[in-house]
Amino acid sequence: MRNEIINVVLTASDEEMFNAKMLSEFEHKKIKGSFNKAKCESCGEYVFERYLRTKDGKHVCIPCSGY
Ligand SMILES: [Zn+2]
Repeated sequence: MRNEIINVVLTASDEEMFNAKMLSEFEHKKIKGSFNKAKCESCGEYVFERYLRTKDGKHVCIPCSGY
């Protein structure tokens, strides 16, 4: 994926450069988004959103969820 973007930039017109830039920024945001933290509603710890579990309608961390 990285090599593809570099090739596009090297051979691109201005418009293609812009598209490549947008694509790389989009990817960056996507990666950054997966590291969002949220507060466990049981113990108050901040954990990565993808590690939150739902228990009794609350978002809780894995230890609080009982797993
Ligand atoms: Zn917790």
